[in-house]
Amino acid sequence: MNSRRDFLQKLTASLIILNLPGQVSAYAATSGLNTQTYDGPPLRVAIMGLGSYGSRVAEAMQACKKAKIVGVISGTPSKISTWQSKYNIPAKNCYNYENFDDIKNNPDIDAVYVITPNALHRDQVIRVAKAGKHVICEKPMGLNAKECEEMIDACKKANVKLLVGYRMHFEPNTVEIINQRSRGEFGRILSFEGGTGFPIGDPTQWRLNKALAGGGSLMDVGIYAVNGARYMVGQEPVWVTAQETKTNPAKFKEGVDETIQFQLGFPNGAIASCVTSYNISLDRFVLNGDKGFAELRPAFGYGPIKARTNKGELSFPHVMHQTTQMDEMAGIILGNNKPVFPVDGEEGLKDLKVIDAIYLAVKTGKKVPLSL
Ligand code: NAD
Repeated sequence: MNSRRDFLQKLTASLIILNLPGQVSAYAATSGLNTQTYDGPPLRVAIMGLGSYGSRVAEAMQACKKAKIVGVISGTPSKISTWQSKYNIPAKNCYNYENFDDIKNNPDIDAVYVITPNALHRDQVIRVAKAGKHVICEKPMGLNAKECEEMIDACKKANVKLLVGYRMHFEPNTVEIINQRSRGEFGRILSFEGGTGFPIGDPTQWRLNKALAGGGSLMDVGIYAVNGARYMVGQEPVWVTAQETKTNPAKFKEGVDETIQFQLGFPNGAIASCVTSYNISLDRFVLNGDKGFAELRPAFGYGPIKARTNKGELSFPHVMHQTTQMDEMAGIILGNNKPVFPVDGEEGLKDLKVIDAIYLAVKTGKKVPLSL
């Protein structure tokens, strides 16, 4: 019954090892990516927030086939002129944080990618929606579930699409493991372990400022463990417990978490056990079932992502995550393609509901029920 699938898997494995020309189509067949095509004009994107991640996205987009940078929104005129010459951006497509509502009169921009500090996402996304443009918003989508609901409502009212920058949803090793889990190859899922963390530097950066970050490591990288637990297990959690450890209260002030351990319970009895930290290097997901396991290590960094299962290693070729993400998102926005895993506002909202529950569990010390 599974002979076609087994054949494709074996074929893919051998093509990857031998690096033969058929690799791309076999890769698409097993990863579930690039199977829908969008052959229309490219998605014309303006990037809001020309900081470190905005710059990474812009570089990666140079290899995109379906998405193109055509505009910028920034508060720093010198950055605007550097980006203009680097990416050939006309002056009429450059805005600042005061006047970007005027983008509504610009027919040459389809979408705005919001890549600013977390606390700014809500208002900026709502303003972009009111200007009638599609929005891609970086993670975490908002500071809490209520903000996400307001953003979703605004985009619905304006009839524009809202996507969240979940690049891992397009990463081939990750997608392949999720596909294997969906096909039952690991059996009944029993547990997930997720570690996401890095030792954060400069104590004056916005990530350590509660007003701009909305929290600490959980908001920034813990969200990958929350999201990863959901896509790896393939169910929505029904309860949360959580504990916080703070070794440096001078650096990690009130409301800025340094390390949080959290546990999620799933309807079938599976449990997730996760650690997120601004003090410990952590980048690993493990999924355990009664017939097998999968490990991603690294699991959420910029790659190459490394994956193995009880059957051996996966070795998909490394592609810049943001290149694939933006090409796929162009297909979703302009071609109405359906992604293998959702990257819409509802998906962002679910993660913030879990995060709200984690913070509540830390505060109360109690098990918090969840209904996603
Ligand atoms: P950054 O500090 O490098 O850049 C932030 C940009 O926002 C800067 O250009 C800054 O000038 C601008 N900005 C506008 N208003 C500001 C204000 N009031 N205060 C501070 N800066 C302001 O940060 P970053 O690493 O690029 O992160 C931006 C967003 O991207 C965050 O939401 C973060 O979570 C997300 N991010 C996502 C990934 C990913 O892999 N998906 C990776 C890194 C960051």
